[in-house]
Amino acid sequence: MKMADFSVTELDSGIDFSNLPYWDVVIVGAGPAGLAASLTTVHRGLTTLVVEAKSRPGGQPQFLYADKKIVDVSGFPDGITGEELSARVFRQAGDALVQFRFNEELVAIEETDQVAKDDPLKRLVTNDGGYLCRKVIIACGLLHYPRKLSVLDQLSSKKVYYKIPKIGDYEENQVAVVGGGDSAMDAALMVLQRNGRVDMVIREEVPLGKADTLARIRHLGGNIHISSEITAAKFHGDKIVLTLSDGSNVECDLAIVQIGFLSAKDTFQRLDLRLNQDGSIAIDPYYETSRGGIFAVGDIHGDIKLITVAWTEGIQAAIYAFKEITSPYWLNEKRLRDQKITMIGEKITQAAQSQTLAKRKRT
Ligand SMILES: Cc1cc2nc3c(=O)[nH]c(=O)nc-3n(C[C@H](O)[C@H](O)[C@H](O)COP(=O)(O)OP(=O)(O)OC[C@H]3O[C@@H](n4cnc5c(N)ncnc54)[C@H](O)[C@@H]3O)c2cc1C
Repeated sequence: MKMADFSVTELDSGIDFSNLPYWDVVIVGAGPAGLAASLTTVHRGLTTLVVEAKSRPGGQPQFLYADKKIVDVSGFPDGITGEELSARVFRQAGDALVQFRFNEELVAIEETDQVAKDDPLKRLVTNDGGYLCRKVIIACGLLHYPRKLSVLDQLSSKKVYYKIPKIGDYEENQVAVVGGGDSAMDAALMVLQRNGRVDMVIREEVPLGKADTLARIRHLGGNIHISSEITAAKFHGDKIVLTLSDGSNVECDLAIVQIGFLSAKDTFQRLDLRLNQDGSIAIDPYYETSRGGIFAVGDIHGDIKLITVAWTEGIQAAIYAFKEITSPYWLNEKRLRDQKITMIGEKITQAAQSQTLAKRKRT
């Protein structure tokens, strides 16, 4: 083991990763959250495996908006594409000896009766094998199941996209963009910036996406149909004709649908984890799920879905996992302390309330 320049232990490059009896940490998903978590655990000397369902790392920035210039990540004043950002973080993780298994999908996480250094081991089961490990960090995002629009689906056409097509696919085209969130607005903007023409069909009266992006779309000549839904769709020659809820027709060469994602409830239920009402994984303040030693980070829970938030959560969960491994009772003690503080807080409030009540009675 050698020391890194920020006083943590790095892994020895001589480790035979193909013959480890168990992994310290297995991370599910090589998106922003999983990659950031993996860098953090490996930089603390923990053997770290990342299991990724797709054939490449990167998650949404790589697969959903590879060409888009991301402008809200600190340190890149000129922006950076999803593809380049993903490649950079992946290289950093690989250089630090994070191990990857691609084309492997999480199926189950089983408890075993095996123990390593007082830590009960889990077996993470994928469609292609199983990995014994001490801690698991689930960072599988939204699983990329875009919400479908049945009225367009019945066309069974390749001209209906549920992700942003590659640059060039829509040059000079008339494009209908369905949805009023940031993803739909990003798509509309990209089409307009590449000589396409846009009709945005937005269900809400007030679009959910950023107001300044909407203003830019308007400025570049995009047509915005608010409080509007597609009631019918059919082909007329090569063109798709959409009928909107106000009875008007919109003709387009292709349609991009960006109306959100479905939470992967089935997978989460299979993992026997407590879920929130919206189907996302429930976590405590330490990103730990209802099953001890299993953490969940990134887009799979919470309201703020951003790369930097996914990074931060990945890093925090990785540090809590590290602390659980290096000082096993630390997190439990911290939880007890938190509970005590809450109870003391409640007692102080109760005492203050009864004092006020007594004062009122006296006056
Ligand atoms: C169109 C669009 C534009 C966006 N623009 C921005 C932006 O400009 N700035 C910004 O900060 N954020 C942006 N975001 C949001 C940002 O991309 C996400 O918040 C971020 O990618 C979440 O990271 P994550 O690691 O939690 O999940 P993901 O990026 O979804 O990564 C999850 C990974 O897990 C893998 N996986 C899923 N299921 C399994 C399984 N069962 N087994 C193994 N692997 C699995 C997936 O294949 C994927 O690689 C945008 C999102 C979209 C859709």
